[in-house]
Amino acid sequence: MQAMEKITISDAEWEVMRVVWTLKQATSKEINAVLQDKMAWKPATTKTLIGRLVKKGALTTEAMGNRFIYSAAISEEVEIKEATSDILAHICNRKAGEAIAHLLEEAALSHDDMAMLEELLKKKKSEAVDVVACDCVPGQCTCQHFHG
Ligand SMILES: [Zn+2]
Repeated sequence: MQAMEKITISDAEWEVMRVVWTLKQATSKEINAVLQDKMAWKPATTKTLIGRLVKKGALTTEAMGNRFIYSAAISEEVEIKEATSDILAHICNRKAGEAIAHLLEEAALSHDDMAMLEELLKKKKSEAVDVVACDCVPGQCTCQHFHG
């Protein structure tokens, strides 16, 4: 039951998770060493963020002598998918195309990425509809003004 609960990670906590995902196992000192130039955090800040992530169930901790070793309890792949799905959950279905177009414009993409996206677009094109259904609560988007 606990494992199914969605964990929300703040921007600062993402920075810590990325280090642990990369190193697999890390001490707070190692995490801070990676982030000190980028984030200009004091060791205490890193420790606070680690503490929150352990509490949330995103990191597990193991004592080794007088040190604590941290490992990720959630997968990077799953978290990236959830974070991108969150964007779509925050907006009207009819604004999804625009939001995705914006992401596409912002992203630096390889030829392999382009091939993957072209393939996906081809598939999505076969499923495209004339008008995307809006399932917003009245008052959270203007769709119903056009249909009500
Ligand atoms: Zn809507």
